[in-house]
Amino acid sequence: MSKGSLFIISGPSGTGKGTVCTELLKKDNIFLSVSATTRDMRCGEQEGITYYYITEDEFRRMIEKEEVLEYAVYSGNYYGTPKKAVEDMLSAGKNVILEIEPHGALKVKKIMPEAVMIFIVPPSIKELRKRLKRRGRENSAEIEKRIEAAKWEFSQSPKYNYVIVNDDLTQCVQETLDIINATNERQRMIERLLNEI
Ligand code: 5GP
Repeated sequence: MSKGSLFIISGPSGTGKGTVCTELLKKDNIFLSVSATTRDMRCGEQEGITYYYITEDEFRRMIEKEEVLEYAVYSGNYYGTPKKAVEDMLSAGKNVILEIEPHGALKVKKIMPEAVMIFIVPPSIKELRKRLKRRGRENSAEIEKRIEAAKWEFSQSPKYNYVIVNDDLTQCVQETLDIINATNERQRMIERLLNEI
């Protein structure tokens, strides 16, 4: 069986990348990596589905034992990708998606240069502010901090393979699926050619 492909999805807070990933999960052969984090669980989130919620000591132990593919600190909390699940799913031929911020994304790209990086942007900053307000998780000072953080995140977008605008969710999901399908198709073609040699 051929190995699966790895996709990294990043984008500023409020862009809607989480919703895009939830939609992608409804499709066949797509595995969304569940990260470990030291941040508190938010209303509506679930252990083992949204994140694995662990303590800082547990997180440090994971780093020491090399159980994370990458990790980063975001808003004072640790976030990391458990290595084994990603490796297992890739070996099982799945399309694996990591929804992670750019520091971690670039670390993964260094270790696994074949990873396809997708950066999702909002149609405008006005719309981004509106979406952050609508989801009601942060107060206005925190919203402005997230908009400020978006400046650096946007500056990293040229390092990504694709930039997709999330104006219309259905279209954004379709564009992401098109990238996944094209990547799979390319891999199958190369494997076929290699088998012919
Ligand atoms: P939130 O706290 O809003 O769920 O996530 C904050 C940020 O952390 C988001 O940009 C999200 O993509 C990123 N993130 C989530 N999991 C990971 C991870 O495992 N590694 C890294 N580097 N970033 C992550």
